This record gives sequence, C-alpha cells and structure tokens, in this order.
Amino acid sequence: MSLELIRNFSIVAHIDHGKSTLADRMLEITGTIAKRKMKEQVLDQMELEREKGITIKMQPVRMVYTLNDTTYTLNLIDTPGHIDFSYEVSRALKAVEGVILLIDGTQGVQAQTLSTLEMARELHLPIIPVLNKIDLPNVRIQDVKNEISRLLLCKEEDILLVSGKTGDGVAELLSKIITSIPPPKKGDGKLQAIVFDFDYSNHQGVIVYVRLFGGSVLKTDGLRFIGAGRDFIAQDIGIFVPEKKTTSILSAGEIGYIVTGIKEPGIAQVGDTVTKKRDECEPVSGYKTPTPVVWASVYPEGQDDFPNLKQALLRLKLSDSSLSFEEETSGSLGRGFRCGFLGMLHLEIVAERLKREFNLKLILATPTISYEVTKTDGTVESVYSPAKFPDHGTYTSVREPWVRLTIITPTHYLGAISQLLPLHEGLSGETELFGDDRAKFTVCMPLRELMRNFFDELKSVSSGYASLSYEFIGMRDADVTRMDILIADEPTTAFTKVIAERRAQKEAQDTVERLHKVLPREMFSFKIQAKIHGRIVASREMSALRKDVTGYLYGGDITRKMKLREKQKRGKKKMKEGGKVNIPHDVFIKLLKE
Ligand code: GDP
Ligand code: MG
Repeated sequence: MSLELIRNFSIVAHIDHGKSTLADRMLEITGTIAKRKMKEQVLDQMELEREKGITIKMQPVRMVYTLNDTTYTLNLIDTPGHIDFSYEVSRALKAVEGVILLIDGTQGVQAQTLSTLEMARELHLPIIPVLNKIDLPNVRIQDVKNEISRLLLCKEEDILLVSGKTGDGVAELLSKIITSIPPPKKGDGKLQAIVFDFDYSNHQGVIVYVRLFGGSVLKTDGLRFIGAGRDFIAQDIGIFVPEKKTTSILSAGEIGYIVTGIKEPGIAQVGDTVTKKRDECEPVSGYKTPTPVVWASVYPEGQDDFPNLKQALLRLKLSDSSLSFEEETSGSLGRGFRCGFLGMLHLEIVAERLKREFNLKLILATPTISYEVTKTDGTVESVYSPAKFPDHGTYTSVREPWVRLTIITPTHYLGAISQLLPLHEGLSGETELFGDDRAKFTVCMPLRELMRNFFDELKSVSSGYASLSYEFIGMRDADVTRMDILIADEPTTAFTKVIAERRAQKEAQDTVERLHKVLPREMFSFKIQAKIHGRIVASREMSALRKDVTGYLYGGDITRKMKLREKQKRGKKKMKEGGKVNIPHDVFIKLLKE
C-alpha cells in the first residue's frame, strides 16, 4: 500500500469525554461496521469495560475512507482516558502521526486532557482540537472554544464541532485527519516494528500489536524480539477491523498484529522491537516501561486456591505487562502475592478480573506505596511491604515518592479546595485563571497523601467539578513510622501500616476502634492494640461472648445445666490460655471499605 494513502492517529481525551462513542461513529461512516451490527462503544470489548463504561485496554482499528475520489486507510488507536493508564496513551502515541484532542463541550478542559496533550506535544505530533457533545442542550460552545484556544494556542475557528452521538461533524473530522495529519515516513528496507501492546490466546500464544516503521513481514517469516533476544516464527499476521483479520503482508507504515506462538510470560514486552532474524534493524527508542505505583497483597480465601491464583496472575500478565507480583507469606493469611499496580483503578480492575475470569475468592490487603529507607549502617533499602518496614531506631532516614498534581476547577471552589490541601500535606504552587471562571493550579504532595482518599475528597468539596492529574517528581524526606496491630497479643502483619508521624496517635486510635467494631467476639476476652515505636499507644478490650449454652435445654434438669456451665467455663479458660482469635476473611474486606 502506498504510504501516501495511510493515516495513523489516536484520540486522546479525559475519561468520559466521548472517545469510544466518536470511534463508533467513525466505524459507521466508513462502513467498517454495518449499522445494524453496531452497539455502543463497540471497541470496549472486555465485559468489565462495558459494565463500567470505560476503556481499559487500547484497541486499534483500521478503516477505509474516500475523499475526493481517493481512498485512504485510516488506522485509529482508541485509548483509555483514566490516569492510571496514561502509559498506554504514551505507547499509542508512539505508533501514530497525529492526535485528535477531544473535549466534552459541557465539561470543558480537564486536568487529564492537559497531561495527554503534553505527551503529544513532546512527540511533536499535530493535534486536531475537537469539541464534542454539541447535541447536548447544556453545551458551552463559546466558553470551551475559548479555553481550548488558550491552552492549545490555536485559532478558535480551527476547532471542530462534533457530536459522537448524532454523528454531526464526523465526516468533516475524517477529512481533516486526511488533510492535516501527515502520512507515515518511509523507513529503510529492514523490518522495524514496535510492540505497543499484546494479547494472549490459549492456542496461539502471545499476539503482539505492532506498528511497522520499516520493511515488511509475511507469515512464516523468522523474526526476533531485539530486547528479549528471542527468535520466533510469525504463525500468522493481520489487521484489526476491529476484530483480528488475517492478511498476507504487513508493510511499513501499517498497524497490525503478529501471532508469535510464544506461551511463556515475560518474553513479550511493550516497547520491544520486532525485526527479521537474518537482517536486524536498530531498535526503536524512546519507550518508557511502566513502573508500579501502589502495591497490595493478594491472598486466596482458601489456601487450596494458591496454585490457581498463581496461574491466574501469570495468565493476566500475558496480556497486561504492567502487572508485577512476587510470592509472600503472611502468618494469618498463608501464602499469597505482593502485587504492583499502576494506580488504584488498575488494582481494582486486576482484582475484579481475577474474580470474574478465574473464579477466585480473594483477600486484598491495604494498598501501599514504596519507601526508600537508609539504615543506620548506611545501606539503602526499598520497602514496599509495611510488614518489612524496619523498627524505629534502626534507620536514619526515610524517603517517599512525591507527586505534582494539576487541578482544574471552577473558581467558585478554590476556597474549599485550599482548605483541604493542608490536611494532605499539600504545598500549593501557581494558580492560573482561564476561560470564564476556571482556574488551573499545581500542588505538590506525598503520594501517600494522594492515596489517602484525596481524589474523593476533592470531588466532594467541588461537587464533582474539579479534575486532577498527577506526575511523579521524585523522592523526598518522609516523616513516617510503622504501626503494628496486636490482636490477643499476637502481631497481625496484614494490619501493619506505614503512617505519618503527625497523624500516628489518631490513626492508631481509629484503627483500634474500627477493629473493635468489625472483629467478632470470642468465648474469651482479648485485647486489640496498636504499637508504635515499640510502645502500645492505643488499646481496647474485646469482652467475651456470653452465650448461655443451657438455653436450649427445656425442663428442670438442673444438674445437666450445671454440668454444661462448668464445661463452658473450663472451655473459656482453656481458650484464654492458648486462645487464638479467629479473624474472619470479611474483616479484612470490611476494613478496606472503611
Ligand atoms: P470515553 O471514556 O472518552 O471513551 O467516553 P465514552 O465514549 O464511553 O462516552 C462517555 C459517555 O458520554 C457515554 O455515556 C456516551 O453515551 C456519552 N457521549 C459520548 N459522546 C456523546 C455526544 O456526542 N453526545 C452525547 N449527548 N453524549 C455523548
Ligand atoms: Mg472509552
């Protein structure tokens, strides 16, 4: 195919601004999917995506469109909008020559819009600004145009108006894509294909999604992953329409897939370059590997399921390279895994997939971040499990990740938001006013505080109007300590937490209170205690269960009653001596849902 006739582009936007719906209309107008077969957000193929109404996995699709008697091939990569998946957006952008920046005309520019816009700018990609949802009665066309033109430094008349719902303006947008996004450049003759995503099927193994920058590939070609140093044979090749369709050749400039037949995890990596075994190219540069941001322990409810959980995680990793995990053991929960995630939504999605796709019942421990601890002997250690956080007095300093938040809000809520910031150790930066009554400002805070429900609190003080994006700005000194929880004098590592010194006393008290509420009583009394710096700082006694075991005995057999009471007493005493408190699994779940 002539390169002149190809356009590769991506749609970026804040979550819910209408990317997938706009993609639906494009698929319809280009006849890629017949109207009668159309369903809403057709590219969101995962059950979970359809249910939550969000895009989790990016989805490429090829369309054909004729403009002025010339037929073009348009390759679209739909991308997820949530902040946790911004690395997916960065991969998609590496594989295209231009982007559509989609903005919901009722919402205006949101924080996440700006951060993806930054990514596109860094790659010097042409950006087509599009104002969406013009069919809605509360659309603010003039205001939002004004916002966009100021942020993008573009002319207001260059902003396209569309409705992904009715299809208004979509044909004009397709023409604009052809006229203002350049065709792919011609590489040298060697096969150079970058892996921007992958998938796994039980019978075909890993299927890599690639963008070819040079050369071509045929079925049965001998190929190589340059990074992984692994050779394989192309079992099949094809394109996305949007389901996978076999083709005879993939050439430079095109987007498609290669079936590798590889069945073990860890070989295929996003960002790796595929080339010909006998004629190697230079690897494509400039990809970032995603690094986990939060960690959480995942345990099977029953230990019999441990091997199944392990299989499930390995299987998920075959299609989600950003998931990481290692085995760990906890006294009360048995064998499980410490998993790394890109953020809280990623965690939620993985947990949900483990439950649905693999039918596993799981216990998730409190998510945490990682700390860099300098021990008194000078060694530096990365600690991402609270139970492994060293004892007070054995380290000289702790550092933790900080983030810079960009918040966009109607000015009306600035006051309420600024009162929220000190509660999360937030340090405010510049504020910039734009549009009619909107403000954009930056705040630096520890990631630990961002995770302490900051996002929900921000949404609540701004009636849902404020939006947030963040980026890492490095490690800074942290004033934190480990809090242990003892139940009946037994340390229970699953409840161990790393907390801010300034909030230590309160956090200890709260945790003990909460446990007191959710733990079931036993036949004997026991203590729930919080220990910080080796001292008990909060404690509550759980009284013994008073169950009259004689209640069900009718009639007057008094000696039998007394015998039973005696037996119960002895039982209680015995339990108190060696008594182990049974912590039911739903207690862990209740505590997490505080
Ligand atoms: P995405 O998260 O950016 O992919 O957004 P979706 O395409 O999933 O759309 C989010 C919501 O906005 C859905 O409920 C859509 O039905 C709705 N929506 C998308 N585009 C339009 C539009 O042009 N007009 C109206 N009225 N609703 C839209
Ligand atoms: Mg979507």
